[in-house]
Amino acid sequence: MDCPRDGTALIEERVHGIEVDHCPQCNGRWLDHHQLDELEATRAKEHERRGTVRYAQRESDLRCPVCAQQMSAFNYRAYDLELDTCRDEHGFWLDVGEDGRVRDIVDERVRGLRRSLSAEAAWGNFLDGLGGRGGGGPWETVRRLFRGR
Ligand SMILES: [Zn+2]
Ligand SMILES: [Zn+2]
Repeated sequence: MDCPRDGTALIEERVHGIEVDHCPQCNGRWLDHHQLDELEATRAKEHERRGTVRYAQRESDLRCPVCAQQMSAFNYRAYDLELDTCRDEHGFWLDVGEDGRVRDIVDERVRGLRRSLSAEAAWGNFLDGLGGRGGGGPWETVRRLFRGR
């Protein structure tokens, strides 16, 4: 398999515990289709990896190293990170450093998810606390309002 950027033969390499194909010339990496999820799995649990991965798909100027058809470029999880993928799900091309950015973005998302979960829990406790102030009254109304009851 050759590098879609410069045609150099790709070399197998182990990165973050995953076997990927690495270009010794441009340091780009080819991940098999399931390996992008494996890369995310090094940083996030399954429920934290849900959601759309490919945004704003358009034609790429690169060709798939497996089947040679033109790949499509997309914004990874709506971030300012452009990756390339084969429409026939052969895999993903990551330019040098992009695997690190994928991991950074996953970290950022996980932090955001955990923050919103704990905010939700704190809000719930707050509302429960309000309920304790002798039923009825304005606080009870506020509590019902936010609880949707
Ligand atoms: Zn290359
Ligand atoms: Zn392909």
